[in-house]
Amino acid sequence: MSDDVLSIIPSDPQWQPDRGAADRVVALVEDLTPGAAGGVDVEIDVTWHDVVAAVDCGENLERIGCPLCQASIDTEWWGDLLEAHCDDGFATLAVEVPCCGGSTTLDLLDYDWPCGFARFEIAIWNPEHLWFSEDELAALGDRLGHPVKQIRAHI
Ligand SMILES: [Zn+2]
Repeated sequence: MSDDVLSIIPSDPQWQPDRGAADRVVALVEDLTPGAAGGVDVEIDVTWHDVVAAVDCGENLERIGCPLCQASIDTEWWGDLLEAHCDDGFATLAVEVPCCGGSTTLDLLDYDWPCGFARFEIAIWNPEHLWFSEDELAALGDRLGHPVKQIRAHI
């Protein structure tokens, strides 16, 4: 069986909220997630990562673009990278891209669908919601005290 996971992460990969801010955001996520309020079993996981972790979109990934030369980056390269860092996280996001050999950071690559990097994540499992709207994301960011972005994964 496959799952869909909608994740909310801070836009800055290093940023972490305190427990109170996280609780306030989760309460709003529950309000905004159809089903959760009505007692349907929507599971919400909240995670603080010690080191930066990749929040990838799984099978939704169609293309990765290089911000330097605009070439497409082999998604297998990305898959290998995720596998290599799945236990220990990313001590640095600095990377030499395989297309043009240029130096950039992993969070600046052009992921379609979006992927991200974070030390804090709220994951909503199998929500009916496809995406949060811009207004909803702004409200979530207000509660968190930091702008947020969303990643939708199919795994
Ligand atoms: Zn390139």
